Formats: sequence, C-alpha cells, structure tokens
Amino acid sequence: MIGEFIRTASPQESLGALHDGGEGTHFIGGGTEILRLGSLINPQKVVSLKGLNLSGIEEEKGIVSIGATTTFQEALESELVPRYLKEALLYCGSYTRRNMGTIGGNIALRRDDSYLAPTLIAAKARLILGDIASDGKYGEENIPIREYHSFEEHFEGSLILKIVLNKPKRFVASLRYARTMQSPAAVTIALGADISSDAPHDVRIAAAIKGSGVVRLIEVENGIMEGRYPTVEDAAAQAAQDLVLVDDITGSAAYKKYILTASVAELYKQCLDAISKGGAQ
Ligand SMILES: Cc1cc2nc3c(=O)[nH]c(=O)nc-3n(C[C@H](O)[C@H](O)[C@H](O)COP(=O)(O)OP(=O)(O)OC[C@H]3O[C@@H](n4cnc5c(N)ncnc54)[C@H](O)[C@@H]3O)c2cc1C
Repeated sequence: MIGEFIRTASPQESLGALHDGGEGTHFIGGGTEILRLGSLINPQKVVSLKGLNLSGIEEEKGIVSIGATTTFQEALESELVPRYLKEALLYCGSYTRRNMGTIGGNIALRRDDSYLAPTLIAAKARLILGDIASDGKYGEENIPIREYHSFEEHFEGSLILKIVLNKPKRFVASLRYARTMQSPAAVTIALGADISSDAPHDVRIAAAIKGSGVVRLIEVENGIMEGRYPTVEDAAAQAAQDLVLVDDITGSAAYKKYILTASVAELYKQCLDAISKGGAQ
C-alpha cells in the first residue's frame, strides 16, 4: 500500500527521493501499473514525476525526442511521432489507459508482453537517463535501448528522461498476438532495418514473449545481414531455435514458436518489399 506520495520538481530531486526512500520506493508516471490490481509492484512510497516537465515531443533535423512522461495518447496525437510507433502505441487498446500510461513507464517495466519494447529496440531508439553517481553527483547519459534491456540491474533506479528516435529513414514494422485487444499478448515482435541500399542492414529483431521476456533474435539478424537466407522461410526457420518457450494462459509453447516463425517471415517480407519499392530514398 502506498504510504507516502512524494512530489519533486527536478530529476535530481526525484532521484534523491528515490535513493533516500530506500526499498519499496518507486517513481510513479501514469500509475497504471503501480496502481493495477494484482501488480507485482508493491510500493510503500512513490516519487511523482508530474512536476518534472518531462512530457512533450520535439523534432529537430528528423530526430524525434519524446519526453518520458508523455502519455500514449499524447504521442498518438502528435504529427511528429513515426507511424511505426503509433502502431505499437495502439497495441494498448484501452483509451483510458492510453491517456494515463506513459512511454517512460512502459519502457521501465520491461514486461514480457510489452507494447513498446520490441518496436523501440527495432527502431534503435536511444534513452536519455538521469542518475546519481556514488559521489552524489547528478549526471545524464545517452544509451541504446538494447543496453537498458540487456543490463537491467545496472540501470535499476535510473530515471528515464527522454526517448530519442534518431533514424528517420529506418524501416520498422511490428506484429502483436493476443486473444483480444485487451488480453495479454503471447508474442509482440518487431523488425527494423536500414533499407538505404539494395539489401537490409543494421537489422534488429526483438520480441516480447509471455513467460520468456524481451529477447533479441540475434542469429536471425546476423543471418539476414550476411545474406544467409535464400527465402524468408529460411530466416523464419531459425527464429525460435534457441528460445525457451513456456505454456501459459496466452498459448502453448508450440503456438508461440509457430507465431514467432510466421511473424519473422512476414516482417522480413515486408522489409524486402519496402526495399523493392525504393527503400529509404
Ligand atoms: C489492466 C492493465 C493491463 C496492462 N497490460 C499491459 C500490456 O499488455 N503490456 C504492457 O506493456 N503494459 C501493460 N500494462 C501496464 C501499463 O499500462 C503500461 O505499461 C504503461 O505504459 C505504464 O506506464 P505508467 O506511466 O502508467 O507506469 P507507472 O505505473 O507509473 O510505473 C511503472 C513502473 O515504471 C517506473 N517508471 C515510471 N516512469 C519511469 C521513468 N520515467 N523512469 C524510470 N522508471 C519509471 C515506476 O517506478 C514503476 O516501477 C497494463 C496495465 C493495466 C492496468
């Protein structure tokens, strides 16, 4: 149960309050997960991010920066947000929740049915994080979102300030599989690539798989970049090979394997189609 609600006015103050609060203290963005019935987060104290002025979307020379407390709905209503991210934002089917849930909160959760993580990893998004070092000094760093996912412990307690999309011409597409719009997804998967030449390069494929977490399909990424697959089905065949998949309420392990492979074939095909239509020119 939340016993204390702490208001702060700057990233430094928020981080200080989080550190001083000790175990059981969490930031609160939109609060949709923190306050969710049955949430695994059980905060004693929350540090509000409302007073930090972190919401809003800017664009400069094709680089789009999204403030961490921007809600899903605000991002959907912005002309600056790329279409591929809007598709992922709409995976949250509840208008009420889209009006409350923040993009920073979604990233911080690293959920295994994450709406946004696969797309943001495929887009090679970067995060601007605020942190307090062991000497007590406040600092900011700019990291690839894939690092945020790979080194979870390292970034525990960091404050996400901004999400930066600095590859305006990148191809990014995603797919989500759930029983209904409001149900948890078995698989959400995205493929991103630089399509400025006649073959995809700088490929990223990321999937949020219920029960397995957010993973990258690095072998398939490399196989595509090295031109190892004569057909999209050959790439798909590799997709679920090293993954440990589990049976759960969203579907069996065999079902998840099937949709992962089918999705890789579909997304890779879409990517090749985009190249054949002139790529990023
Ligand atoms: C019924 C229901 C179903 C849901 N289903 C899904 C789903 O299928 N997929 C999905 O991805 N999400 C789901 N969610 C969770 C949620 O709605 C979204 O993930 C939302 O984007 C979370 O953002 P928030 O601002 O509300 O997070 P909050 O609840 O405010 O915070 C969530 C966590 O993120 C941390 N946090 C928040 N902002 C920051 C920041 N700027 N920097 C660092 N840490 C931060 C908090 O400390 C907390 O630990 C569901 C929620 C509900 C209520």
